[in-house]
Amino acid sequence: MFDYQIKENSLTDKTILVTGAGDGIGRQAALTYAELGATVILLGKTVKKLEAVYDEIVALGYPEPAIIPLDMKGATRQNYIDMATTISQQFGKLDGALLNASMLGELTPFTQIHEQIWNDVMQVNATAQFLMSQALIAPMLLAPNASLVFTSSSVGSKGRAYWGPYSVSKFATEGLMEVISDEYENSSLRCNAINPGATRTNMRASAFPAEDKNQLRTAKEIMPLYVYLMSNDSKDITGQVLKAQ
Ligand code: NDP
Repeated sequence: MFDYQIKENSLTDKTILVTGAGDGIGRQAALTYAELGATVILLGKTVKKLEAVYDEIVALGYPEPAIIPLDMKGATRQNYIDMATTISQQFGKLDGALLNASMLGELTPFTQIHEQIWNDVMQVNATAQFLMSQALIAPMLLAPNASLVFTSSSVGSKGRAYWGPYSVSKFATEGLMEVISDEYENSSLRCNAINPGATRTNMRASAFPAEDKNQLRTAKEIMPLYVYLMSNDSKDITGQVLKAQ
């Protein structure tokens, strides 16, 4: 496990965007960030799921979150620019962005990869990450120190049979992270990626339907790295792919 002691109130006064905040790891990260004092912006595809997380955060007495419903498959560059403008107007700055949402597509032999699945996975996992981070950099540079966090996978640095588009899209994610990190090395913006490792979520269950999910770590258990990268303790860390477990 990534070794970090979570400190109470360590994210107070920070505004943090979490994509894919309605389910799985993103949902847990949103709840954890809110618990530590952050105002979270919940972005995702299914409004009902986002509303459930919103209600949970409010019921627990954490700072009131915001909701941005967005399907990253169809979203355009203008959607991301509008989103960034709204964030700047409403919050004045963006301290953190956890780009967590992604799709698995289908696990198939390479010669059977469907072009449409390839395009969808690339759109959501690579192009949307590019457009979103491009738009978010302006509000992030208004924060005293900002943390942009991408989400990779073990197949994002070593290709794996049958994982075609998902694996390639995670290589792209790591590349994007390195480019941004290098370009903003002398700024207040840092950029890293998390490899969560096998975690008990719906995505994991669809990739490994036969495995015993009780053997897997929960999203809650892998939160130390997610908190570390959003906290001021990681201020000087950039360009890294860090493993949550
Ligand atoms: P889940 O499938 O549980 O959650 C994915 C989230 O992304 C959901 O909230 C989903 O929204 C959202 N999402 C998917 N497609 C879109 C879209 N087109 N537009 C907006 N939001 C979208 O996945 P995990 O929590 O397991 O995964 C989180 C991240 O961690 C992913 O990047 C994944 O690749 C990575 N990862 C996960 C591992 C694991 O073992 N779980 C291992 C390695 C990496 P909705 O629910 O509305 O569809």
